[in-house]
Amino acid sequence: MNCCEGSGLLPLEIALEKLLKQISPVGDIEKRDLEDSLDAILAEDIHSAIDVPSYDNSAMDGYAFNSQDGKAGNQLSVVGKSFAGSPYPGEALQGQCIRIMTGAPVPKGCNTVIMQENCLIDRDTIVLQTDCAAGNNIRLAGNDIGKGQLVLAAGKRLSPSDLGLLASIGKYRIPVRRRLKVGLFSTGDELRLPQQSLDPACIYDSNRFVVAAMLKRLDMEVLNLGIIPDEPEALRRAFQRCKESCDAIVSSGGVSVGEADYTKDILDEMGKIEFWKLAIKPGKPFAFGKLSGTPFFGLPGNPTSAAVTFHQLAIPALQKLSGAHPQETLSLKVPAPDHIRKRSGRTDFQRGFISQNRDGEYILNCGIDQSSGMLSSMSRSNCYIKLERDRGPIDAGEQIELIPFDRWLQ
Ligand code: AMP
Ligand code: MG
Repeated sequence: MNCCEGSGLLPLEIALEKLLKQISPVGDIEKRDLEDSLDAILAEDIHSAIDVPSYDNSAMDGYAFNSQDGKAGNQLSVVGKSFAGSPYPGEALQGQCIRIMTGAPVPKGCNTVIMQENCLIDRDTIVLQTDCAAGNNIRLAGNDIGKGQLVLAAGKRLSPSDLGLLASIGKYRIPVRRRLKVGLFSTGDELRLPQQSLDPACIYDSNRFVVAAMLKRLDMEVLNLGIIPDEPEALRRAFQRCKESCDAIVSSGGVSVGEADYTKDILDEMGKIEFWKLAIKPGKPFAFGKLSGTPFFGLPGNPTSAAVTFHQLAIPALQKLSGAHPQETLSLKVPAPDHIRKRSGRTDFQRGFISQNRDGEYILNCGIDQSSGMLSSMSRSNCYIKLERDRGPIDAGEQIELIPFDRWLQ
């Protein structure tokens, strides 16, 4: 065990707290049509102007009548029909019932519905096969949503069912936060674009594709500046362009000690940036700060480090910037299936894969290669195994924290 591994490193929780403190949500609100509002951030609390359902209606296809007639064996005469969208206009009297379809309004005089399967039907009469109490098979007005009720709170990222909920209360133009625009580039003389020939000592730029895809999932617009060489003037131009037209800037590479000199000098010249050595693995070097008020996230170049730091630090900050409420992370405590290598000093985000066997029991594979340069380890995983900073190696059976990849990573 190496007890000094974490000395001088900033714990993740502190880094996140410092970072979030410096972010305030963009204020701009726009209205979007319901169809265009998926994944947008709701800007205002939404209350319902109506009851949902707006009238008492039947939950079944059957017959409606008054529960005073609701004894098994009673015979009732069918005097009319109530359809969804076409109610029975009259009233059911004693000894009478109304044929009723699912969703149709419960006619006057009726307070119970019997399923047609529980009746003996003979032309215009029915004989009840069961007792029927008041309220049976009736969906009361407002039992889903009451008039005036808070339906969705500001800050909610709108899901498919949220859109349905808004439709169900008759809302169409939805007040949402303006979509963020994020400037993105990779730095490094060694980087080449996919499809280009790979010169000696060069690699393909993969980080930008990972980050751009996560930004897309976050419903953010990307100003993608491509690969910026390790040259002061090119970097200065890239930062300047992003600063002028974006809400936030994300770069990858060039933030580790010694290699970041240009980036550092330029950032110092243009804004206030802190270079952090984080107590997380993968992902030690990370830069955060502001260029004339625009938040900047400088991710490490190693692909897994870039993905994990973007996910763990930049996403919460960008979520806050976009006006979204913080999201709860689903985390499960499970016993380690095997021995897990770990040094104390950094919070590990090891990659794992969780699946089920034929008996429905889960199986956790912790044997995925954890090298920070290997993006394939991330691609082959579906969960993090988060191991606390102060922990050393883990024995089989010890409790570990399993965090399924959320929708940004899946
Ligand atoms: P750096 O942080 O610039 O020192 O880079 C650390 C490591 O990550 C080096 O091996 C780089 O070649 C690699 N790297 C940097 N940027 C990228 C990128 N955009 N895509 C893939 N690998 C990268
Ligand atoms: Mg570099």
